[in-house]
Formats: sequence, structure tokens, C-alpha cells
Amino acid sequence: DSDRPPAASRPLAEGFARIYANYTALLHESERDKLTGLYNRRSLERQLQRLLQQREQALHQAVAATSEAHGQPGMSAAEPLQVWLAILDIDHFKRINDNYGHIYGDEVILLLAQQMRACFRRSDVLFRFGGEEFVILFGATEQATVHTVLERFRQRIARHVFPQVGSVTVSIGYAGVGRHDYPASALDRADKALYFAKQHGRNGTYGYESLSASGLLGREMAAGSIDLF
Ligand code: GH3
Ligand code: MG
Ligand code: MG
Repeated sequence: DSDRPPAASRPLAEGFARIYANYTALLHESERDKLTGLYNRRSLERQLQRLLQQREQALHQAVAATSEAHGQPGMSAAEPLQVWLAILDIDHFKRINDNYGHIYGDEVILLLAQQMRACFRRSDVLFRFGGEEFVILFGATEQATVHTVLERFRQRIARHVFPQVGSVTVSIGYAGVGRHDYPASALDRADKALYFAKQHGRNGTYGYESLSASGLLGREMAAGSIDLF
């Protein structure tokens, strides 16, 4: 705070800055996927908790504001804003590896991650979850918005021409995340919707809640395609 920091404290301040820089670098490395720089699978739980907490806080503030305005206990909003989890899986990725080799396969993964960065908002949290599987977390949002955004991305990828490989498509499944949900259960629901997409022509976007409400998720859906553990 002082105008002229005493020379003696300068090395100390620089020392702290170095420790902090090392700490953030280590944190970054342990949370990120090496190829794409997106978050890795390990950081999903922490990021999901963060978004769920943010949503709770926003909800409390909204309730307080409503009760202040009406002089009575809070009234809830028309459509509850929810946290959403989407799983995106590249279609027939094995063929890309088989036809062009793993180097090109990796290149497609990298370019897809770049497209994700360019297409989604900064507040959407992006993960490379496994080989050619990605997860996206959306903070408090309406279902219609999530669907539109994911569908727009799917179409963008379908139109994109990847060097050498040409056309690549993705299938997407998503589900809402409740405040006491385990990450594994949310993943499982999103994966059921993804599995549905894979069974119905691929290159599509499906929400678990809509599929479930229209009775399209049969009992045979019990086992999804993603490897959870
Ligand atoms: P589907 O449309 O059903 O998803 O077909 P798919 O071929 O994409 O399905 P599957 O999940 O069975 O195959 C994924 C393949 O991705 C298996 C593996 O050879 C390849 N793969 C996984 N991780 C990597 C990676 O990091 N780099 C490369 N090049 N290939 C990978
Ligand atoms: Mg896969
Ligand atoms: Mg695949």
C-alpha cells in the first residue's frame, strides 16, 4: 500500500510472486488435458460443484429480491434455471484412425477442441473427458438455450472441412444436474441421451429429459456407452 515500498521487502514480495506462479502452473497442469488444454476428467467434480454453488447463490438472491419487491416470501421464476451437463462423442472416430492414422486422429481432436473454444461462451466449462469424448458444463441456463447452443455446435462441426480427413460429425447427449446430484448420475443420464443419438443415425443432439418424457428411453438403455470408472 505504501508509495515507496522499502527495498528490504522487495525480495520477499518477489519470492511470494514466484511461489504463487509455480503453484498456479502446477494447478493448471494437473487440471488440464495435455493435447487440447481443456480441463481433464479429474477436474469435473470440482467444476460441477462450483457451478451448482453459483446457481444456489443466484437463486437465493433472486428469492430475496422478489420477496423485497412483493413484501412477501419469494416467488419462484417461471422456468428454473439449471446446470446442464453435455457429452459429445466423435462419430466413427475409429475409421479416422484406421484410414488416416493416429496422428491425423489426434489432429481432429485438437481442431475440435479449438472449435469448442471458439463456439461456446467463456462461462461454459469444457473438458476432454476421454479419447474422443468431451464434456461441457453450462451454468444456470434454460433447456432451450442449451439445446440451441449444442445443436449449433453440432451443425458447425458437420459443415467444417478438416484437413485431409474432410467431414467429421459428432453426437451429443445432455441432461440437467440437480443440486444433490452425483457427477456419475448426471453423466449416466447424459450418456443415455448420447447412446440414443448413436442408435438413431448419429450426428444429432438429444436431451435426456425430453427423451424420457416422450417415453423414448426403453429399458434396454440401462447400459450406456461411456466408461464411467
Ligand atoms: P461411434 O460413432 O460409435 O462413437 O464410433 P467410434 O469409432 O468413434 O467409437 P469408439 O468409441 O468405439 O472408438 C473410439 C476410438 O478412438 C477408439 C480408439 O482407437 C480411438 N482413440 C481414443 N483415444 C484416442 C486418442 O487420443 N487419439 C487417437 N488418435 N485416437 C484415439
Ligand atoms: Mg467414444
Ligand atoms: Mg466415437
